[in-house]
Amino acid sequence: MSKNPFTNATKQLENAAELLNLNKDVLEILKNPKRVLEVSIPVEMDSGEVKVFKGYRSQYNDALGPFKGGIRFHPKVNLSEVKALSAWMTWKCAVAGLPLGGGKGGVIVDTKKLSGQEIEKLSRGYIQALKDFIGPEKDIPAPDVYTNPQIMAWMMDEFSKIKGYNVPGVVTGKPLEVGGTKGRKFSTSQGGIYVFQKAIQKLKMNPKTTTIAIQGFGNVGYFMAEILYALGYNVVAVSDSTGGIVLKNGKNNSKNTRIRSGCLSIKELLKYKKNTGSVVGFPETRSITNEQLLSLDVDVLIPAAMENAITKENASKVKAKLIIELANGPVTPEADKKLDKKGIVVVPDILANAGGVIVSYFEWVQNLQNYYWEEEENISKLKKIIKKSFDEIWRKKESLDINMRLAAYAVAVERVARAEKIKRGL
Ligand code: NAD
Repeated sequence: MSKNPFTNATKQLENAAELLNLNKDVLEILKNPKRVLEVSIPVEMDSGEVKVFKGYRSQYNDALGPFKGGIRFHPKVNLSEVKALSAWMTWKCAVAGLPLGGGKGGVIVDTKKLSGQEIEKLSRGYIQALKDFIGPEKDIPAPDVYTNPQIMAWMMDEFSKIKGYNVPGVVTGKPLEVGGTKGRKFSTSQGGIYVFQKAIQKLKMNPKTTTIAIQGFGNVGYFMAEILYALGYNVVAVSDSTGGIVLKNGKNNSKNTRIRSGCLSIKELLKYKKNTGSVVGFPETRSITNEQLLSLDVDVLIPAAMENAITKENASKVKAKLIIELANGPVTPEADKKLDKKGIVVVPDILANAGGVIVSYFEWVQNLQNYYWEEEENISKLKKIIKKSFDEIWRKKESLDINMRLAAYAVAVERVARAEKIKRGL
């Protein structure tokens, strides 16, 4: 089994290519990132010492439009991961029918060990290193794991200083005051909600009794939990990098008893995490590991942390009937096969978490027009696009009797392949 994310991403593409009987020249083009950049970013630390950080940007495919994708600040960032994430962005934009290609970036850094000033210097340094390769018409970065709107503001400011004028459209996910768009901060999760609602309806699950476990309590996991709570769904377990918790009150101490009653109080939990640095220890819950969270006896599992959470080693322990992939690449291809055999429906990342890039696309459009929309406009347009994408993929899944991931890849790869073919006269 491969924990190499790019090998997994390539495998997923090949599966779709086989289904589509894709021209082998086109497949060869689609298997390789168009450009991969590796940069060194010197930062003068608060101590006066200079530290050099390694950064990447993978520009995977721009047949449908400029490269688009987030920047990750994480100690485990590596080239394989960045390339995989850039491929997934390509398919994600295509699934949603956006006129954008796919890219992704990352810096190897543990931001928890840096001061705010050091993070600012690193963010500006990343843009200086990539200034010739990004821009509103070329490549438009956005936030990802451990990057946020403030970091996007620094990046936009740095690019604007280099250009000599304000260029808000160079990155998305910015604060509202500097060209951000209303609703962006919860848009990935809001899109996830529409997908979740469609999926439980298709699987005829009872919304009142459906229980949900979420791995990850960051931007995506938190907002997903909060919106689910507000809509009356039962989020019974969550986790972060320090561990997980599950509600005690469902009499879930007995192994065979399903966790049924209640929902974690999500806003309270956020306050608790802000005070203690962890979700673990929250009142009325018992502690579990991240591994245990994945095998809880719940109806829906929502991985919203990192890739490779569900592998061939732990896939057989998954008891949920439905998995909504809010993280990128949380299920490996080998695990996919096992889940498939067990009849577990997996809504793939390139559809489930597309809400973020859809609203990022709106932000970019607004920046280019210098004309800004209200939150309802963003959210209603998001709803329309993501529900349409879900329906297209569900129809393909049903008509070809394949799983949702393969159906989503087939839709996406076909769109990108058609554009490549037309452009290259193949
Ligand atoms: P974030 O940095 O805000 O949060 C990440 C969360 O995951 C944190 O709660 C962290 O504690 C937790 N975590 C880290 N390592 C973990 C581990 N080993 N086990 C369990 N939890 C762990 O990041 P985010 O923006 O919420 O992104 C989460 C996932 O969603 C990533 O895969 C990202 O690529 C994907 N995603 C994000 C967006 C977006 O708009 N932010 C859009 C699409 C996809």
